[in-house]
Amino acid sequence: MAAHINPAPSCLKADVWEHFGFKKKKESDNLDKTMAVCKLCHTNVKYSGNTTNLLSHLQRPLPTLFVRI
Ligand SMILES: [Zn+2]
Repeated sequence: MAAHINPAPSCLKADVWEHFGFKKKKESDNLDKTMAVCKLCHTNVKYSGNTTNLLSHLQRPLPTLFVRI
């Protein structure tokens, strides 16, 4: 079963955050904000303070043969 994806904090207001969330770090209760997780395909997308990577992920066709880890 995939790890739970937490919704992005409300301070992140861009529309793209409807489709991305964050996972919690294993060792603490904090969200790992270096890595956004796509809610549609559960892919980790590197997040470095801007939504460029996230937008380009959404513009890609969905991987229909995506292998679940
Ligand atoms: Zn995706």
